[in-house]
Amino acid sequence: MMMQDRVSIREVGLRDGLQLISSRLDTEIKLDWIKAQADAGFAEIEVTSFVPPSILPQFADAKPVLEGAQDIDGLLPTVLVPNLKGAVLAMDAGARKINFVLSVSESHNMSNVRRSTDDSLAMLREVIAESKRRDTHSIGVALATSFGCSIEGDVSEARVANIAEQVALAGVEEINLADTVGYGDPVQIARIFRNLSKIVGTVPLAAHFHDTRGLGLANVMAAFEAGVRRFDAALGGLGGCPFAPGASGNIATEDTVHLFDRLGVATGINLDRLLDVRGRLVDWLSEERLEGRLFGAGPARRTAPGGA
Ligand code: ZN
Repeated sequence: MMMQDRVSIREVGLRDGLQLISSRLDTEIKLDWIKAQADAGFAEIEVTSFVPPSILPQFADAKPVLEGAQDIDGLLPTVLVPNLKGAVLAMDAGARKINFVLSVSESHNMSNVRRSTDDSLAMLREVIAESKRRDTHSIGVALATSFGCSIEGDVSEARVANIAEQVALAGVEEINLADTVGYGDPVQIARIFRNLSKIVGTVPLAAHFHDTRGLGLANVMAAFEAGVRRFDAALGGLGGCPFAPGASGNIATEDTVHLFDRLGVATGINLDRLLDVRGRLVDWLSEERLEGRLFGAGPARRTAPGGA
């Protein structure tokens, strides 16, 4: 590990975390949350999803949330979209970075967005074409179920590589591999990322892990050692997947920041300030069960310099 090592941790609690819970957060509270995490040092936060409110009413305020977040100095707010329509709405609202989601697993893609993976790939090309026409938007892609699928079981690594190659050629500016259902293990994850880094050229790779089966931070470590420098995480370990029973929990942002602090890897995030936001989350989402270990335990006490 080298001193200049630096990772970027993107908060996804406001999108992935809120997607499935029944508690509703007011737009004002969402913006307070975003502002507080930006103040704690987050450069990128996924603030919402452009989906029909009839499907996910939690994101009916996508436009005002994005617009409010765009006004925060130094923050790049990102949004998730599942289709061209959502992408166009996001572009109309001025989104500078849009993450298009598709699943490597055909069955999961059908369940999640009701079309084949190939149809999603074709749609991604349309989204990129539209963004190039407008010239102000960066398009990333999130490949869900890259490490396993609750419907199909194993997901072929050759298929992950093939789809990643196609999206790289299509012109995305980031490829985020998501362990949507928490099936990945460290050895598999390191192997897949190492393989992909040879295939996708200069397109940055990102990782999105769930701690469903307790392997979340081990998987972060494995991906980091395989060269990944961009990680998603959700404050309080919020999040899940509707087609992955029991798949609650992204990796907790605060625990992930703590891990990199201990490794001496810069995150740009002030952990004390982040833990303050985590404390406020308890009030904002008083009905929800929150995860993460650091908030309860607190950071380890360190011996003062010069002490024994
Ligand atoms: Zn997630």
